[in-house]
Amino acid sequence: MIYDAFLTLAYPQACTICGQSVEQRKFGVVCEACWKTTRIFTGAETICWKCGVPAVVEAISFTPDQVSCRRCDLQSFTAARAIGLYEGALRESVLLLKRQPHVSQHLEALFTIAARRDPVNGATRIVPVPLHGKKMKTRGFNQASILAQALSKSLQLPLDEVSLLRVTGSEKYRAGLDAKGRQDTVAGAFEVRHPRVVADENILLVDDVFTTGATVSACAEALIQAGAKTVSVLTIGRAIGPPGTKIF
Ligand SMILES: [Zn+2]
Ligand SMILES: [Zn+2]
Repeated sequence: MIYDAFLTLAYPQACTICGQSVEQRKFGVVCEACWKTTRIFTGAETICWKCGVPAVVEAISFTPDQVSCRRCDLQSFTAARAIGLYEGALRESVLLLKRQPHVSQHLEALFTIAARRDPVNGATRIVPVPLHGKKMKTRGFNQASILAQALSKSLQLPLDEVSLLRVTGSEKYRAGLDAKGRQDTVAGAFEVRHPRVVADENILLVDDVFTTGATVSACAEALIQAGAKTVSVLTIGRAIGPPGTKIF
């Protein structure tokens, strides 16, 4: 799909968080002050090496690759990272992306920085999490594809929107389920159409939000089964549950 990242937004416009006017077009729908209060990962945080969830307690006695939340042990991806927490400007960017195929310049720059960071930086191929056909029809575009297209351009890596397919659509049904139920309903929901294309590749799987990891894990499982060497995940936001949620 061809799109112009700057075409669809009226400008100047009011910040969707605080209502002040957005100073620069590159910030998208959020003003600079609201971008500044959004927690963006720097790479120096203590996080679960695999799923990227921030640790509540400082695990100073561990080297970074030894920190694990253990809850992601059974998930099929190699590692998952995000630009920052799913809040503030990142949350607004995700919500906007569900309505318009728009990636602001600032968001694209942050996404590119996150993609260049260890351990997700060894990718040879970019694959968006596919949207179910019905949803694709009503929305007209897949937000993960829009992100993957932007990243493919900035990283100069091949974009693969055809190998991974969603074979069942259970989004509505999933909405009322807990994490375990969600994991079950997405398991087996993805298929690889051309295993030869992904074989021995280091895949960077792209989506808008990482919540339970069930969806990206199901995608990764299909890709690994098809012969992919590694499957890293990159999202805009990392949801960590409501305040007070015990993580580690
Ligand atoms: Zn603002
Ligand atoms: Zn973890």
